Amino acid sequence: MSYALTEEQQLIQQSAREFTQEYIEPIASEIDHASIHPSAVVQLMAEHDFLGLYLPEEFGGASAGYLSYVLIIEEISRMSGAVASILINHASLAAYCVNRFGTVKQKQAYLPALCSGEKLGAFALTEPGAAPGAGMHKVVAAKEGDNYVLNGRKCYIANGGVADVYVVFALTSPEAGTKGMSAFIVDGNTAGLTVSRTVGKMGLRGCQSAELVFENVIVSSHNLLGSEGVGMKIAQQAQLAASVAEGAQVVGIAQAAMDDAVRYGKERIQFGRPIAAFPAIQTMLAEMATNIYIARLAVYDAASLIERDKPFMKEAAMVKLFTGRIGQSALIDVIQIEGGYGYSQEMIASRFYRDIKGAVINESSADFPEKVIAKDLLA
Ligand SMILES: Cc1cc2nc3c(=O)[nH]c(=O)nc-3n(C[C@H](O)[C@H](O)[C@H](O)COP(=O)(O)OP(=O)(O)OC[C@H]3O[C@@H](n4cnc5c(N)ncnc54)[C@H](O)[C@@H]3O)c2cc1C
Repeated sequence: MSYALTEEQQLIQQSAREFTQEYIEPIASEIDHASIHPSAVVQLMAEHDFLGLYLPEEFGGASAGYLSYVLIIEEISRMSGAVASILINHASLAAYCVNRFGTVKQKQAYLPALCSGEKLGAFALTEPGAAPGAGMHKVVAAKEGDNYVLNGRKCYIANGGVADVYVVFALTSPEAGTKGMSAFIVDGNTAGLTVSRTVGKMGLRGCQSAELVFENVIVSSHNLLGSEGVGMKIAQQAQLAASVAEGAQVVGIAQAAMDDAVRYGKERIQFGRPIAAFPAIQTMLAEMATNIYIARLAVYDAASLIERDKPFMKEAAMVKLFTGRIGQSALIDVIQIEGGYGYSQEMIASRFYRDIKGAVINESSADFPEKVIAKDLLA
């Protein structure tokens, strides 16, 4: 990898690699099997400054930049896509919204605790049954004096139930549809906010997903992010910033899976030769390596746009589109190369396959990447 990383970025990458080997490798399989939220590892990530790595120093972060942050996501994903998801939902979604759209008072109130690990963040947009704001469970925020009163349901919320702070999207003008949606910072312990159930998932199982119920949840108007009606714009920008981190997650998983396939291909003997000697296997590996290489460059470039405060939406959508395609195809090929063993639960490839699918679906149809790219091209 010859992308010109600075010395500091290389050190951060190396320390994330060591962290992953020391703390995540021993628990990665167990948290997947048992679907356990790894709170001790989250605390350790906080102690290593991972939770607030790219967030500003003045609000408790490390100001190390978004590219350094995605390097960490990539390293963690080589061992556990689930732990990477916990970090992405916390940092690229919840904390991103507060940092990008919050007032100074809101940042002072929430970011230091989100950076130190005292509080974990989550992002609550998706609703049961239909697109956000369109179904019978839509979350509505009714203005009452200086407060809003939230009612409705959210589903599939990563870090749901274990988070302390939720960025919640709710209709302040239900008649206007998504144009009447607003974003609120909601403390997890607010009366009336409960978890009705956790969702059993195919992959990313150490990252808990939950359904949330809002029953007369009172939120101060001081916790409105931006102004009324800009919720979908906030959601879209945060989801695209998260897509870059999810691109790094896909690259990390695909790289680890390919490394495993290379090792296996050299060891597995068929017809008197290692299977890696067969051209069909070499073609699959060569295509995989090329796609991962290109995807990584795109992820790093899009991350550096975010870091430099440049327009990044089109490039982030391109990352989402490309990493989604190449990540899934890489895992299908890895399992093909590893044959029956690859398909067994004993091999790491099956977990990688389940995890990469989740990383690709997440954020997928909130705004189709193709739509974002075409809109930019045709503007
Ligand atoms: C692991 C995981 C974690 C998640 N975490 C969170 C979270 O923390 N917070 C949160 O708010 N949400 C979360 N989600 C929800 C996630 O954002 C949505 O599942 C995702 O955006 C897809 O939306 P959907 O499930 O409503 O699918 P749908 O929009 O119903 O799409 C279903 C299928 O229909 C297709 N489709 C939909 N509309 C169109 C169209 N107009 N034209 C053509 N095809 C179409 C889609 O491509 C897809 O193939 C999570 C999901 C996953 C898998």
